[in-house]
Amino acid sequence: MFDLPAQRAHLSEKYDLNPSPELAASMSDIYDRMSRVVSPVDWAIYAPYVKAINDLKAERNAVILGHNYMTPEIYHGISDFGGDSLQLAIKATEVEADVIVQCGVHFMAETSKILSPEKTVLIPDMEAGCSLAESITADGIAEMRRRYPGAPVVTYVNTTAEVKAASDICCTSSNAAQIVAAQDSDTVIMTPDQYLAQNVARDVPQKNVVWWEGSCIVHEQYSAKDLRDFREWNPGTRLIAHPECPPDVVAEADFSGSTSGIIKYVTDEMPEKALLITECSMASNIADALPEVDFVGPCNMCPYMKKITLEKVLFALDTMTGQVEVDAEVADKARLSVQRMIDLSRKLGI
Ligand code: SF4
Repeated sequence: MFDLPAQRAHLSEKYDLNPSPELAASMSDIYDRMSRVVSPVDWAIYAPYVKAINDLKAERNAVILGHNYMTPEIYHGISDFGGDSLQLAIKATEVEADVIVQCGVHFMAETSKILSPEKTVLIPDMEAGCSLAESITADGIAEMRRRYPGAPVVTYVNTTAEVKAASDICCTSSNAAQIVAAQDSDTVIMTPDQYLAQNVARDVPQKNVVWWEGSCIVHEQYSAKDLRDFREWNPGTRLIAHPECPPDVVAEADFSGSTSGIIKYVTDEMPEKALLITECSMASNIADALPEVDFVGPCNMCPYMKKITLEKVLFALDTMTGQVEVDAEVADKARLSVQRMIDLSRKLGI
């Protein structure tokens, strides 16, 4: 369990973390990346943490990987690389660093560790979980194999190492349809996201796609009616949904894609107004780079992603706590599932 008062006492002994408008002004180059969504007052609070973390990163030869759903002060202030979960894991294999700090959720840190076992991987809060990753275990995979003998198991990367190890191949939201279509079997098992599976089933009608009943607590909250109402009240807004949303929501949207697909779509299309039907920080993190686009409307927050804060990142890096370990045998099998996906994606030119 997290002992916040003890952490704070530890940090205040070593660092001056008082809000500082002067320090904030001296770091305007960093602030410029988020000034549309972070107020100057908040930046004066964040700046001492950002400076302390960036100094410590150099000392520890560490790299920070920031998921697209991190808050802007993490995504733009301290992350060396931003992206979706797979982009970050691949980046983890490419960097020369000794230490990787995963600003995201636990399964992402595990994936980085699986792909880079020689590096120290830290997660600033061990309780940063995921409703999808928690919805299935290796026993669930075994149960699906019993129900559909001989069918390959395609597992979303939003899963634990143990589940990846029990699967045949992984997929992400950007390559799921192509990975399923390429399987040498009429029936394909998809786990654990029922909505991603249903969206893939629509796009790959030549396969009998069967699924586990997991879901993302952020994306399952949207309804098709929400989108219809929003379109009526805000004509001209481009509606862009993540494929973890239910199929009727995706059908109402103008575009559906992974987080990196959403960024590419908005950057290419430059709509005047856009509603991103996904986690709240997505729009905040691209708002400054796309001043011509007005990001509007409601969004849903991921409580797991929001467990990661500047304070926790500083504490993890200072004390080198929150180290993620994966059993070597499990990691070897899980790596195979992830590597098969990477190899197949390259072969298919995705
Ligand atoms: S947004 Fe959904 S899929 Fe992503 S970490 Fe949160 S609960 Fe999991």
